[in-house]
Amino acid sequence: MISGDFCWIYSFERFRDSMNFSDIVGQSVLVDRLKRIMQNQLIGHAYLFVGPEGIGKKTVSNIFARGLLCKSQGNRPCDLCRSCKQFNTGNHPDIYRVTRGSRLSIGVEQIRKMLEDTQLKPYESGRKIYIIEDAHTMTVQAQNALLKTLEEPPGFTTIMLLGDRSQGLLPTVLSRCQVFRMQKLTKKEVCSILVSNLDLSEEKAMLFASLSDGIPGRGLQLAGSKEFNDMREEVFKFLSEFSRLDDMGKMQYKDLFTKYRDNIDVVMDIMVLWFRDILVYKEVHNNHLIINLDKLALLKGQASIFTVKRVRSIIEKIEQSRRMLKGNANYQMTIENLLLAL
Ligand SMILES: [Zn+2]
Repeated sequence: MISGDFCWIYSFERFRDSMNFSDIVGQSVLVDRLKRIMQNQLIGHAYLFVGPEGIGKKTVSNIFARGLLCKSQGNRPCDLCRSCKQFNTGNHPDIYRVTRGSRLSIGVEQIRKMLEDTQLKPYESGRKIYIIEDAHTMTVQAQNALLKTLEEPPGFTTIMLLGDRSQGLLPTVLSRCQVFRMQKLTKKEVCSILVSNLDLSEEKAMLFASLSDGIPGRGLQLAGSKEFNDMREEVFKFLSEFSRLDDMGKMQYKDLFTKYRDNIDVVMDIMVLWFRDILVYKEVHNNHLIINLDKLALLKGQASIFTVKRVRSIIEKIEQSRRMLKGNANYQMTIENLLLAL
């Protein structure tokens, strides 16, 4: 549901560092595969972790990398050996990361520099691991430079590519990687991640989980964002007033939609969730199923004035506008039509 680029920065580092496989919520098929690879010591040369931003690619690949470097004979990563400790403090000499930073893409020079490093033997562990973040942004030149090494890397080398999507990667690159697709989580799973990582009530966590589209990073981002909360309050001001407004009055709210144009998908999610809550309240009478519990008074008020049919038609209009915007319809016109139709 949410696809806009978030300008809200939230650091996930503190969740990543010392996490182990048992802390991973969801992704059980993938986690089993990774554990088996480590147990059997059948370690590949190249892995690609694919999934939307915030799904947990870094978290999972970090645990996997730490496990591959770990010196324990038992469960890996052990988090006790020298290698694990070095990894957890960001000082492991056998980890090499390529990141995009603030650039739009990963260029060929970055990859060439990495490839030079692959000629050096590991210092600490029997293995060197190269992690290329945002691999889907590698230029074609960068990917071509990587190809030969992906095919025949030095024996002690493992390359991990992390990508939001596999489009953008050359088929020749893809075919040389073992691909791990990361699955979206259920609302409940995202909720449990939020509750265990943030100082949040279950009700509030459920709200953010519902808006996360199954992507825990998004849920964390929303929950930690003052901007999101401000935006939500502004959308709720509109939601609390629109039914009393004439067309002119509704048009006054165009500015709100212009202001949040980059996050229109989130705005629409907030609106849809609200009307879904009204339906739940009217039809099921179970407060436990309501997401916007902090707006219960408003919910009761609107539930008494809107018919089920009207609420359903509003949801349909919002979703229709969303589809039109995705199909590149004119933004102002689509929003105006939506406002008038509500
Ligand atoms: Zn260890």
